[in-house]
Amino acid sequence: MSSTATETQDAQDDQPLTDGFHLVIDALKLNGIKTIYNVPGIPITDLGRFMQAEGLRVLSFRHEQHAGYAAAIAGYLTKTPGVCLTVSAPGFLNGLTALAHATTNCYPMILISGSSEREIVDLMQGDYEEMDQLAIAKPMCKAAYRILHAEDIGIGIARAIRAAVSGRPGGVYLDLPAALLGQVMDAAAGEKSLVKVIDPAPAQLPAPDSVKRALDVLKSAKKPLIVLGKGAAYAQADDQIRALVEKSGIPYIAMSMAKGLLPDDHDLYAGAARSLVLKESDTVMLIGARLNWLLSHGKGKAWGTAPKKFVHIDIEPKEMDSNVEIAAPLVGDITSCVEALLDGMGNNWTAPPAEWTDAVKAKRDANIEKMAPRLLNNNVPMDYHGALGSLKRIVAANPDLILVNEGANTLDFARSIIDMFKPRKRLDVGTWGVMGIGMGQAIAAAVETGCPVLCVEGDSAFGFSGMEIETICRYNLPVCVVIFNN
Ligand code: ADP
Repeated sequence: MSSTATETQDAQDDQPLTDGFHLVIDALKLNGIKTIYNVPGIPITDLGRFMQAEGLRVLSFRHEQHAGYAAAIAGYLTKTPGVCLTVSAPGFLNGLTALAHATTNCYPMILISGSSEREIVDLMQGDYEEMDQLAIAKPMCKAAYRILHAEDIGIGIARAIRAAVSGRPGGVYLDLPAALLGQVMDAAAGEKSLVKVIDPAPAQLPAPDSVKRALDVLKSAKKPLIVLGKGAAYAQADDQIRALVEKSGIPYIAMSMAKGLLPDDHDLYAGAARSLVLKESDTVMLIGARLNWLLSHGKGKAWGTAPKKFVHIDIEPKEMDSNVEIAAPLVGDITSCVEALLDGMGNNWTAPPAEWTDAVKAKRDANIEKMAPRLLNNNVPMDYHGALGSLKRIVAANPDLILVNEGANTLDFARSIIDMFKPRKRLDVGTWGVMGIGMGQAIAAAVETGCPVLCVEGDSAFGFSGMEIETICRYNLPVCVVIFNN
């Protein structure tokens, strides 16, 4: 070798290098990801270790499904994708349930799974944990990507983040083959390849015509009702939503995870008169709530025979007319839509007729009064009402506490009995009504918010994720679990 060639070779040897592991970590950190919910193992063991060394908080669970439920609810609480990291094939499949759950519930989440060698998987030659994970994930989530080259890690993670949080949030799968993590490249070029996602969930303003149409429908209502859903809680438009309810003077009900968006003791809250307002209202404004099974699809016995007009605020245009005709679709992000309505209402908005609001309040107050003595009972053995009455008082005295709730009867009773006073304090089974979310959600709630967590669990529901109690203890998290053993 000539002396010049030797010098060039030496200079190249001195050039700082990076690898797939560190590019993944740098890309996540650049985009504000701080916590990883994972179960370690081949081929992501070293990725988790390097993440810890580089300052990410990596929480290790007993089972990927619960790490996934934790990531999903972290996304809901923070509006930043919750990240779950799993091994290939079985670990990936365990995490997939939570990814589908995140997508169904409109929570932003990224499931990152290590995968086996592409060349062997694609020829089906029988690799360790062989599985075409990308193909399997695709129908279960909002988007699915695979990164094959180290220089694409920046753009791949940027795509995953934007897909998870923009528009209707959801789950994204990111496939990282083991070989990618070990790929080496020039550190400066690696740094340049990273992408910081600018404005990941851009505001989506409603069309002015649709705002006017919605206001016209609301103005003509004699018995209006607002339904707040967990999309409204997710949007973190707390002040605007409260202003809209109060300025309009319209009674409202809250879907279970929207409870506390306005305090449940608010004068316009009609939770305890739910049957009456669904049946008798003539106009219903849905804010971040779908007309799915949880709202009896907007028709049938629960909604009574009175003709109804619906105003529907949602970021997803396809949601309009999903079950019944929507008289005034308002497509946009909730903050922008609610602000546009407030603007359009001006200063002379007329509250709904007192005949309606008084009837709603009278029914609500009567129902609350009827229930009160049952919640004070001291029956032996303890019953749902006695036990939940005690928990209701504890939650009222500790409004910052986060309540996680799952079960069958334990869920149904607790939802109506325990009042919430602040937004995003009630986390439950969500759109599928699924059991097993308890400990994963409790862990993420404690980690993401620092608030104490109270889990109210049916015994069957608790059984699905009970082993994660060990995770709660290992990280010394402020979680109290109450199990209803009926
Ligand atoms: P619930 O179960 O409480 O009734 P759903 O999950 O059925 O609530 O509905 C939530 C809705 O909120 C979804 O249709 C989703 O598209 C919508 N959504 C989520 N985030 C936003 C947002 N920022 N702006 C507008 N709509 C949103």
